[in-house]
Amino acid sequence: MSSPPVLTTEAELKEALAPLWEAQRPLVFVPTMGDLHRGHLSLVELGARLGPVLVSIFVNPTQFGPNEDYDAYPRDLRHDLDLLEQIDGVEAVFAPDAATMYPPDDTTFVEVTGVGEPLEGEFRPGHLRGVTTIVAKLFLLVRPGVAVFGQKDAQQCLVVRRMVEDLRFPLRLVFGPTVREEDGLAMSSRNRYLDGEQRKRATVLVRALRRGREALEQGERRADVVEALMLDQLRREGAEVDYAAVRRVDDLSPLERVEGRVLLAIAARVGSARLIDNFCLQVDEGGVREAPLRDDNTFEAVASALR
Ligand code: AMP
Repeated sequence: MSSPPVLTTEAELKEALAPLWEAQRPLVFVPTMGDLHRGHLSLVELGARLGPVLVSIFVNPTQFGPNEDYDAYPRDLRHDLDLLEQIDGVEAVFAPDAATMYPPDDTTFVEVTGVGEPLEGEFRPGHLRGVTTIVAKLFLLVRPGVAVFGQKDAQQCLVVRRMVEDLRFPLRLVFGPTVREEDGLAMSSRNRYLDGEQRKRATVLVRALRRGREALEQGERRADVVEALMLDQLRREGAEVDYAAVRRVDDLSPLERVEGRVLLAIAARVGSARLIDNFCLQVDEGGVREAPLRDDNTFEAVASALR
């Protein structure tokens, strides 16, 4: 196979997408910041089962804080294209430059209050606003029928979902499951920042999540106790913790008793890498089980709605 064409301007994008907008199957959009790994590729593969896929690769400046890793963020378009070439159904890659997405006179942002305010909203001010702004701009340019996001960034999924509902974007969202390394570490472009010793320690996020889940499985229902268990594990292994939280999935609000669809969410620094991870669980009298973030955003739900 040959690598997918790379489009950089709005004109090129429109020309390439025009026939896809008219097609029977929906145009599927997978937005990324590049440095693709198996997590991204799983979303592309999922999307390709629903329709022709457009992948965007754009390191979005507005979602990085002033002291964050925008300049250091890994960029390797050639490598990304080699990976995408191996997946059937990738029609094109949209890789605009910053001036295309943010002309110099641009002053508009899209901000989701409520679900965008706690957790990442608190610890990375402006980050989610940068995400919703670029995603809205990309949705308007690409006009997809389906867009695919990873549950690894659970709050991002929830914020984009809120935006799609509130602004009536005519598309369906699929949230794909988190792809992990063999030892459980969630795949992330930021794992590259870890040296050998830090890489081993980085599994503490998933181990803390498992500890929280185990407590729930053993019948613990006090959210503060579950949070303290996760926090304790993270701290003991030298992670610098932003949050280790148990929240309602609906709006990410705190709860006293853990019940219903809940998110165990962690953000912590290992070395210089700030990592996030989460488990989404359904907790009720029947026990504790892994659950999708939202039932109507699973691949299966969207595939069946499109039939
Ligand atoms: P990023 O390039 O980090 O902006 O991520 C692009 C998309 O890939 C987002 O929807 C992420 O949630 C998703 N993603 C990142 N890591 C993973 C992973 N380990 N498993 C599944 N999806 C992921």
